[in-house]
Amino acid sequence: MNHETYRTHRCGNVTESLVGQEVRLAGWAARIRDLGGVLFVGLRDRYGLVQVVCEDGQPLELSKQFKLESVLGVVGTVRRRPDDMVNPEMATGAIEVVARQIEILNSCQPLPFQVDAAEDASEELRLKHRYIHLRHPVMANNLQVRHRASMAARNYLSSQDFLEVETPLLIKTTPEGARDYVVPSRIHHGQFYALPQSPQLYKQILMASGVDRYFQLARCLRDEDLRSDRQPEHTQIDLEMSFVTENEIYQTVEEMVTRIFAEGAGIDLPTPFPRISYDEAMNLYGSDKPDLRFGCPIHDVDALAAGCGFGVFEKALAEGGTIRCLVGEALAEWSRKQVDELEEIAKKKGAFGLARAKVAGGKLETGIAKFLSDEFQAGLLEQTGAKDGDLVVFVAGARAMAVEALGAVRLEMAARADWIPEGTWALAWVRNFPLFEKTGSGWAACHHMFTQPRPEDIDGLEEDPGQGRAQLYDLVCNGVELGSGSIRIHQRELQERVFRIVGMDPDEYLPKFGFFLDALGYGAPPHGGIALGLDRIVMLLTGSPSLREVIAFPKTTLAASPLDGSPGKISEAQLEELHLGIVPQAESPQEKGIE
Ligand code: ASP
Repeated sequence: MNHETYRTHRCGNVTESLVGQEVRLAGWAARIRDLGGVLFVGLRDRYGLVQVVCEDGQPLELSKQFKLESVLGVVGTVRRRPDDMVNPEMATGAIEVVARQIEILNSCQPLPFQVDAAEDASEELRLKHRYIHLRHPVMANNLQVRHRASMAARNYLSSQDFLEVETPLLIKTTPEGARDYVVPSRIHHGQFYALPQSPQLYKQILMASGVDRYFQLARCLRDEDLRSDRQPEHTQIDLEMSFVTENEIYQTVEEMVTRIFAEGAGIDLPTPFPRISYDEAMNLYGSDKPDLRFGCPIHDVDALAAGCGFGVFEKALAEGGTIRCLVGEALAEWSRKQVDELEEIAKKKGAFGLARAKVAGGKLETGIAKFLSDEFQAGLLEQTGAKDGDLVVFVAGARAMAVEALGAVRLEMAARADWIPEGTWALAWVRNFPLFEKTGSGWAACHHMFTQPRPEDIDGLEEDPGQGRAQLYDLVCNGVELGSGSIRIHQRELQERVFRIVGMDPDEYLPKFGFFLDALGYGAPPHGGIALGLDRIVMLLTGSPSLREVIAFPKTTLAASPLDGSPGKISEAQLEELHLGIVPQAESPQEKGIE
């Protein structure tokens, strides 16, 4: 076969307009159907599948050797399929290509799993032969959506004067709160680089460098305990802007995200995205990443519960706790067992139980109804809008526990009651997070240590770090956090105060972050930014069940790559060159790092 060109058309693009023409195609034998005397091959490339017919001559002769997933080169003529053979499901379903000549460009060995049945193979096997799985149209589409999403971000940011700047992979350390992956230095005996958990410090230094607007599709490496929605390597759409306000960041990101959704998956998002404060999110939805695709907010019924006559509620209030409830619209029908299952969820969050009652005849019935005064009941219905046929569930106790427990119950209710319509998107900003959170012995930054406090909180920072609110915002979508960002501290003195609040003294922070403090001290402008998780976004856009579906070469939950067998041992010579020795360990590393 002459190889001046492998193909004149792509498999997926052979349509009726080519009937009567000779085409050259190349692709994988995705399906082979031997009817004896005629053999059909479904020839697949990234663009689709086309039916090739071997009905006589060399093609039929050679077809005896075809194996699934072999790579074939085909020369043939496009003809219309007989009416009863037309497949309206396929873009190429009205035609077939009658082969004149076929070449086996590469034969395929017996497959470990078939592309169309990849889901029946174990994750390990699929990852080991990732190239086979990636031929599946769903996987191929995931990569295409990812590409379009990345390009939408790049094009938009570039049009807004953002410069794409690469920051180093071998660095000192990034304090994003996870464990660093480290790389030993051959030249500097006993010293290590860290791989970046994010480009945080570098992007801030770029602002000090006058870059003004930076972005990068940045690889971030974090040695964390893995879960199905985490990977040791992930990609962030990372950006930073100088002389910028929170509002301007929201506008930029909203425009970028709308384009990503539109160009990535044809989804129209309304803007502006609603903004809610962290306190509101926690009080109303029991989560800092609320799913706003449905209502069902949490109600605070403390005012009603005072003196309501129900001992459990009154005791909780007397102990400084609170009474919160949810109204499950039209869920009064739910059986005791169904509500018991919700109770289990509340208990996992620390609730003592899930008190319940149904609304019927304009008052509460069953459950705890008999303990609640008429006044409480009337007030509850008025305050919450609960009506006949609804289920009301209550948690009494400490505020944080009560809202988190009901937040989890709310999500479960919605899932079980099918409240979330397919294809709905609810993006929102959650803002005004606390700056610090209490740890066992002191304070830790809620996000990272570079976040600017609100101006009104700066003076009293040391006095009561727990009171301070940060100029920190998360973008959430359908209950998933897409990214976090903040206005940054740009003055050295304030940055040093924050280091001290989180328990570092100069002996600790100067060796670690002295270079960064210097950059702030030599004229860093006010600045702020954000990083959005590209993998998460693509997972949502493609409706994929896990991050592994949208990363070309992901790791397993044990942070291993069955494809290349990493991590692996290195030779004695390499160890020596790196001045490293391996200490034998009793516990197998596989036993660690799993959640
Ligand atoms: N570097 C931060 C992170 O990785 C995001 C940001 O503050 O821009 O979460």
